[in-house]
Amino acid sequence: MTFTETVPSPSRIGLDLIGVEAGAPLALDLRIESVSEGVLVSGTVSAPTAGECARCLTPVTGDVEIDLTELFAYPDSATDETTESDEIGRVGGSGEPDTVDLEQPIIDAIGLALPFSPLCGPDCAGLCPHCGVALATAEPGHDHEQIDPRWAKLSGLLDEDKQ
Ligand SMILES: [Zn+2]
Ligand SMILES: [Zn+2]
Repeated sequence: MTFTETVPSPSRIGLDLIGVEAGAPLALDLRIESVSEGVLVSGTVSAPTAGECARCLTPVTGDVEIDLTELFAYPDSATDETTESDEIGRVGGSGEPDTVDLEQPIIDAIGLALPFSPLCGPDCAGLCPHCGVALATAEPGHDHEQIDPRWAKLSGLLDEDKQ
């Protein structure tokens, strides 16, 4: 059978700088097959992401999509006897008989799929080293008047000349 549904994310999923917000729509497009040892769930999960650029801290939004392939073993199957439940989930493992708990596998897979350093753009210039403003949102050519030390010396000489 297939399971195509959009459910709200039960909690915030992700990393410090980027993640799927609690309540954001998780679009599940899954196929659920009965196999000899249990239930095989495969398909994709996608969700919107929100975070901050790692260089300039501008808010960034995007999408994450993961491929999920997860076997849930029947209690008393050979797989049940030869593996730990934290390696391979169990049918009914969350306490409800005949259900599979996809929450942890989805959380783990999204965590791996998210960029470790999200960027607002591929060549984000980061923050101005002088004043800390985000260069991506500052006016074009944002700069600080800085007198080259050689010119500073020259302007000093000119000043002396006037005296
Ligand atoms: Zn940026
Ligand atoms: Zn500046």
